[in-house]
Amino acid sequence: MNCENCHAKCKAECCGIVPLPRETVAKFSFVREPVNRQDIGDVVFATDKDNYCCYLGEDLKCTIYNDRPEVCRKYGDESYLLMTCKWQGFDGRIRDRAERRRIQAEQEKDQIRVLKDFKKIAHEKETKK
Ligand code: SF4
Ligand code: SF4
Repeated sequence: MNCENCHAKCKAECCGIVPLPRETVAKFSFVREPVNRQDIGDVVFATDKDNYCCYLGEDLKCTIYNDRPEVCRKYGDESYLLMTCKWQGFDGRIRDRAERRRIQAEQEKDQIRVLKDFKKIAHEKETKK
């Protein structure tokens, strides 16, 4: 994928709330002010006032590209709905508006399903106590 071709439209929307490994955060300084930061286990979630990942440069390029997390390397993999980029295919083909809308609608449905499953598992754990 050549994301630079798409930046004018997508505004790097995939670079938002991403789990950053603690060792990455210890090694590299943020380039955006972390307004929202949560340290959970081995990962850190850090976003700026616009909800962008704190490693996203002003030119919308990743400032730790060669050391970016696994999830960022895999983003765009169309075998997972929630990893699919609605702006372009993994082969670099730019998607049209209808395709973008279809993917967005499917992703929103899937997010709700994931959230429901998560709540169900949490409820089951709670009632077993
Ligand atoms: S993966 Fe998609 S949303 Fe992210 S920068 Fe590339 S084209 Fe834009
Ligand atoms: S680490 Fe880099 S590729 Fe991953 S979300 Fe942040 S800016 Fe984007």
